[in-house]
Amino acid sequence: MEKKRLEQFKKKLEARQVELRRIVTRTEHDGRTADEEAAQDIADKAANSYTKDFLFHQSDDTRRILQLVSEALERIKDGSYGLCVGCQEEVQIKRLEAVPWARHCIECQEKQEQGLL
Ligand SMILES: [Zn+2]
Repeated sequence: MEKKRLEQFKKKLEARQVELRRIVTRTEHDGRTADEEAAQDIADKAANSYTKDFLFHQSDDTRRILQLVSEALERIKDGSYGLCVGCQEEVQIKRLEAVPWARHCIECQEKQEQGLL
């Protein structure tokens, strides 16, 4: 991959990493606040646990993406960024532009989604 392009992906990933870290921190804070404010009233309790479930679910997704973003930045460092971890071919630039932390090329991603990988 061209150095210039790699640099652009790196910037994108770093910006996303900062953004996701901020979300994770805020979600953890919100989760704790929800705990502290736990009401005794049963109706309030139900609403409270709903909010917490929602927050935890959301933070799982965020953490997963944050992990993928960090891995992508590691691959930029070791020079393997942009190569599919499945077939070692170059991942399509269009795919990387849409999902800069993609580990698989489109073909391998499809196979993975079908449970073939
Ligand atoms: Zn592949």
